[in-house]
Amino acid sequence: MSDKKLNLDLLKKCGECGACFDLCPSSLHIEGYDPRAVIKAILGGDKAELDGVLNSKQIWQCLECHHCLEMCYQHYGFESAMTAMRLLATKRGIHPIQVKKGWDMFAKTGRLGEPNMGARKRLGLPEPAASGKEEFLKLFELYKESIGQ
Ligand code: SF4
Ligand code: SF4
Repeated sequence: MSDKKLNLDLLKKCGECGACFDLCPSSLHIEGYDPRAVIKAILGGDKAELDGVLNSKQIWQCLECHHCLEMCYQHYGFESAMTAMRLLATKRGIHPIQVKKGWDMFAKTGRLGEPNMGARKRLGLPEPAASGKEEFLKLFELYKESIGQ
């Protein structure tokens, strides 16, 4: 694992600290969510345990709320490890189906979802702003070229 978000020195201190655990909304409200267990598995380096983490729903239950990042004395945060594990899982194609659907829609339209026009009308909301889709798709094509895809 070479992702810079998986800095093992910082992770080791993180595993010994645990200071932000009681502020993490996912830890407080989602049964079984335990970033420290994920960190322990990463540091332990046991392949079967790591595969278990990559296949678990835990890594997708981090809300990316940045609480842990903001209060972390290392400027690291549990979140960094969760993000790194999600990226790794995605590269292996073991992400939840909703993630793939969201990505496919984003790559096609520049949006993560389409505005509900009926609901907007009922609520008296104005037409949504243009998505910037054309510019996004041009940039996306340039990006893909730059990485040889
Ligand atoms: S970013 Fe994730 S791990 Fe950090 S406090 Fe929020 S939910 Fe918890
Ligand atoms: S993210 Fe920072 S504050 Fe939270 S447990 Fe790890 S080292 Fe401690």
